[in-house]
Amino acid sequence: RPKIYPVTQHGVHRDRLSFAALKITTRLQEAGFQAYVVGGAVRDLMLGVDPKDFDVATNATPEEVHHLFRRSRIIGRRFRIVHVMVGPETIEVTTFRGGEVGDKNETGRIMADNTYGSQEEDAHRRDFTVNALFYDPSDETVIDYHHGVKDLNAKKLVMIGQPARRYQEDPVRMLRAVRLAAKLGFEIDEATQKPIRSHAHLLKNEPPARLFDELLKLLHSGQGFECLKKLSDEGLSHGNFPLLAAVMDEPGSEAFVKLALDSTDARIRADKPVSVGFLLATMLWHQVYNRWQRRVENGEKSVGALLEAMADVEALQDNDFAIPRRFSTTMREIWMLQPRFESRSGQRPFRFLEQPRFRAAYDFLALRAEVGEVDRELVDWWTRFQSANDDTRLDMIANVK
Ligand code: ATP
Ligand code: MG
Repeated sequence: RPKIYPVTQHGVHRDRLSFAALKITTRLQEAGFQAYVVGGAVRDLMLGVDPKDFDVATNATPEEVHHLFRRSRIIGRRFRIVHVMVGPETIEVTTFRGGEVGDKNETGRIMADNTYGSQEEDAHRRDFTVNALFYDPSDETVIDYHHGVKDLNAKKLVMIGQPARRYQEDPVRMLRAVRLAAKLGFEIDEATQKPIRSHAHLLKNEPPARLFDELLKLLHSGQGFECLKKLSDEGLSHGNFPLLAAVMDEPGSEAFVKLALDSTDARIRADKPVSVGFLLATMLWHQVYNRWQRRVENGEKSVGALLEAMADVEALQDNDFAIPRRFSTTMREIWMLQPRFESRSGQRPFRFLEQPRFRAAYDFLALRAEVGEVDRELVDWWTRFQSANDDTRLDMIANVK
C-alpha cells in the first residue's frame, strides 16, 4: 500500500542521521522490532535542512524499549513515550499509535492516546502528510502512506484526514500549521487552511503551558514575526491567545515587536543564542507602556506608575497564560530598568553600568528609540558612556542638560 522511495530517488543516506538515531533504530531492529526515523527529521532531511532533533517510531512497547536501553525512561501519561539517552543526545521513541482515537471530550478533543497499532495507523495519526514519512536506515528507503513526498516537492502543507476534525481533536495543530508553513516556506493547502478561522476559539481551552511551548518554537523558528502576523491574520490572536493579542492588537506594539523579531530571526539563522525573556519583554511592552503613560498623565510618579502598569498587565496575562518564572524575571527586570536611563547625575550612571541586566535594558532602550518612544540622544549618550574612560564619563555627566 505505501509508496516506497529508494535512496536513488530521495538522496538521504543513513550517515545524515545523528549517532543516537542510527544506534537506536539499529538496536531495535536487531532485537526483532520495526524501527524508523519519523516525522520532522525525515521531512527536514529530504528538504536538505539539518533536523534539530530525531524521533523514532517502533512497534516495540514502551516497556520493551525501556528494557533494551539502560539509559532510558518512560514519560508522559496521556501520550506515553520513551526518552532514550545516547551520549549527549536524547531521542524520543514512540510506539506506533492506532485504533480509533480513544478518549475525547465534549468538543472532540483527544484526552488520551495510548492504543498501539501498525505503522500505517501511526502514519494516519500524524498531522501533516510531510510529517508522516518514515525512514528505514537499514535500506535507506522512505515509506510514504499519504503522498507526503509529492506534497513535499510541491511545498504544500496538507492535513491528513478531515482538517476540521483534526483541529477539534487537537487545536494546537492550527498553530503548528502556521509555524511549519513559515519555517519551511510552504503554502498551507486550501482545505487545511479554511477551517482554521472557525476553530480558532478552541485554543482557549488548551493548557497554557502547551501554548507557551508552541510559542517558544515559533519564536525560535527563524521566521518569528511572519509567524505571529500569520497567526493573527488567521484569527488566532484576539480573544484566543492573550500573548499574541498583546503583540498584534495593542497600539504601537506590532512595529516594535517586528523590529525586535527581525534582529532575533537574523541571530537564529546565524545560530546565535537569543533571550526569550527579552523577546517576551518586547511582546508585552506596549500593554505596559500605554498603561504606564496613562498613569503618568494622571499625575502618578514615573517609577510607581510603571510598577502598577506591570502588575495590571501581568494580571491580564496570568489567568490564561503562564509565563515560566525563568523568563518573566528577566522580562520584569528589563522593564523596571527603563526609567533609570533618565538619571544621569552623580554616581548613578556608574552604578547602573554594574547592573547585571544593564546590557539587555540598554538594547531594549535602543529599540524604543528606533520607534521614536525615547530620544535618540539618550541612547547615544549611553552608547558613548559605556565605552568611555572615567574622565570622559565624569565630563559627560557634568554636561548633561
Ligand atoms: P519541528 O521541526 O518543530 O521539530 P516537527 O514536525 O518535528 O517540527 P515535533 O513537535 O517534533 O514537530 O513532532 C514530531 C512529529 O510528531 C511530527 O512531525 C508529527 O508527525 C507528529 N506530531 C507532532 N505534533 C502533533 C500533533 N499535534 N498532532 C499529530 N501529530 C503530531
Ligand atoms: Mg521535531
